[in-house]
Amino acid sequence: MERHQNYIAGARVAPESKEYYQTHNPACPQQALGEFPLSAAADVDVALAAAESARDTWADMPAPQRAALLMRFSQLLADSKNELAKIITLEQGKALSESTGEVIRAATEASFAAGEALRLSGQTFPSERPGLTCYTVLEPLGVVAAITPWNFPVVSPVRKIVPALACCNTVVFKPSSLTPWSAVFLMNLFEKAGLPPGVLNLVIGPSATGERLVTDPRVRGISFTGSTAVGIHIYECAARRMAKVQLELGGKNPAIVLDCQDLDGAASEIVAAAFLCSGQRCTALSRVIVQDSLADALIERLLAHMKKIRVGNGLEPGTTMGPLVSREQMEIVSGYVRKGVESGAMLLAGGQVLTSDPQNQGYFYAPTLFDRVAPESALALEEIFGPVLPVIRVPDAEQSFEIANSTRYGLAASLFTQNPRLIHEFIKRVKSGMVHVNHGTASQPHIPFGGVKDSGQGAYSIGPTVKEAFTDLKTVYIK
Ligand code: NAD
Repeated sequence: MERHQNYIAGARVAPESKEYYQTHNPACPQQALGEFPLSAAADVDVALAAAESARDTWADMPAPQRAALLMRFSQLLADSKNELAKIITLEQGKALSESTGEVIRAATEASFAAGEALRLSGQTFPSERPGLTCYTVLEPLGVVAAITPWNFPVVSPVRKIVPALACCNTVVFKPSSLTPWSAVFLMNLFEKAGLPPGVLNLVIGPSATGERLVTDPRVRGISFTGSTAVGIHIYECAARRMAKVQLELGGKNPAIVLDCQDLDGAASEIVAAAFLCSGQRCTALSRVIVQDSLADALIERLLAHMKKIRVGNGLEPGTTMGPLVSREQMEIVSGYVRKGVESGAMLLAGGQVLTSDPQNQGYFYAPTLFDRVAPESALALEEIFGPVLPVIRVPDAEQSFEIANSTRYGLAASLFTQNPRLIHEFIKRVKSGMVHVNHGTASQPHIPFGGVKDSGQGAYSIGPTVKEAFTDLKTVYIK
């Protein structure tokens, strides 16, 4: 089995403790995939020192050169889509077609973000006094920490690292300990693209490694994607030293169905957005809020589309939904389903682990649908992060918007209707970073992405807003 290392100052470096851990394939957990460093404070320290010492030379590289280098990375990423997609499926579980899509998406985002290196422009202003020149410039933050979850092991790091580098920062990257292989692969591509030593450093390890990173005063910006609980903690740590944050957190994204003539189209969009990646997506549609008079017909169509889902090993042709990422995730999902049944919700489909011995046969979970879910129940309010879709019935639009806003989250929301008045009301009233009309929650690689309330903080990722996340503004007066 291959033993992988941290990547610090352009070299593969063993953790100071010399301790490693193994990762496993969630589709057959007895298959070990590799050994990875159990990094600790000393390793984070060395990585931060490398990022600090590379800072000035990286920031001084002419912008077209920096953009060209990052474009080269984007091309290398696209070229290795088959190899990298297989690694994603092996360590994360998702179907190979989804993994391939993830790599292509990451390459497209990277090519847009690479161009930001050429668009780091400030503004000029007329002066109220004669003889003064007034303008603004964008300056790098310095060292940025990139901390990512396991559900998008390629898109999530690329979405942070490439814009941070384009904006002249250096980076220390800590991936989820469940998906470090993709991270190692990405480092190889950045090296091949010609990134100078120390500009990007990888430290692999558990949450304590991330904690060490976010509490270090040398880190001036933190881009974090993960759970709301950890995000709030990171926000507090950063606030103590006024470091900048970009936090992309959990969601409980509603699909509202009102006055809708195309229930089959709505069901098709909802099922795709709810069950892709086994529902382990921050923007997964994770509750349906439907007008009572349409509920039976919609549910019939939801069940029909769910029947087409083929659960299995993501590497097998024909699989459309892989396993859950880990035993822990499987137990969390099972716990919510149990609670749902106890709360009196009607289980219409799924609701069980699909293997008799998941520790050997994989963490496969059946696509699950609940009807008549109480709006105040855990199923309706909490992020489950699994293939579980609760349906909440409402008498009218007023109630649907109230319930949509009743969770702590505000990431994405969809409305399915042909009624223009409801469309405008939905866009105005639903508190959500992203809203979609007659569309699941798919985002695009050049359009700002983020959440409000407990779903996020700081400038949105993707597209032009990344410059706000990864630079400081300086105002200049010259007499
Ligand atoms: P997590 O919060 O447990 O971990 C995320 C990362 O943070 C991991 O690398 C982890 O090791 C690290 N970490 C944990 N504790 C830390 C600490 N105290 N200090 C620093 N780093 C720490 O999340 P997860 O289970 O890996 O991912 C699932 C969560 O991610 C879900 O809540 C999901 O909604 C969210 N997510 C959000 C988005 C978004 O764009 N809004 C996208 C994907 C996932």
